[in-house]
Amino acid sequence: MSPQKEMRIAILKKELDDALKIDEKKLADRIKATGFKCRKCARCCMGEFGDNTVIVSPSQIRKICKRSGLKRDDFVIPTPSDDTDEDGNIHTFEWVLKKNGDCIFLKNKLCEIYECRPFICKTHPFYLLDGKLEVCECMGIGGSITDRESLELAGILKERYVQEIKESIALFEKFKGFNPGGGGKVCVHDSEGEHWIT
Ligand code: SF4
Repeated sequence: MSPQKEMRIAILKKELDDALKIDEKKLADRIKATGFKCRKCARCCMGEFGDNTVIVSPSQIRKICKRSGLKRDDFVIPTPSDDTDEDGNIHTFEWVLKKNGDCIFLKNKLCEIYECRPFICKTHPFYLLDGKLEVCECMGIGGSITDRESLELAGILKERYVQEIKESIALFEKFKGFNPGGGGKVCVHDSEGEHWIT
């Protein structure tokens, strides 16, 4: 393993240790102080109101397949990329939900997979960056939120953050570079290795 890769994984493992120590009550207090009430406008799912790209990990893809009866390629595509190997095959990291402007699961402003929707959707408009609470643009910001709702959201945010770091560590540990020879035109690198698509 290259020294750079070892260093990257070591940094991620430190981030994971820190993430596991996040105090959910303190995080909930920050969410409460910000305020949030979903307006059910579905703007976050619609393409016309900004970037509605939803990255999904292999475990989340499996959860959606199990609950919806759909197959992976019915609802995700490789993350768009211009990176290629010496044979011209495209290489990319992770998968994103299909969309035709709006997310393909959005029907009449309702999410068809609401119960098993990805972490990004469950925690919108909040996310954690370097352990700090960040907020995306959303009409619901400033709305009233109860202590119980704040704590629940804090728990999901922490779980998402921990899963994202674990996903990155596994991806780095399995990543062998942009090499041809996988028998496809597109190679997706994720926490479970390489997936070649024809
Ligand atoms: S999965 Fe559901 S909540 Fe997430 S973007 Fe699509 S429609 Fe919206």
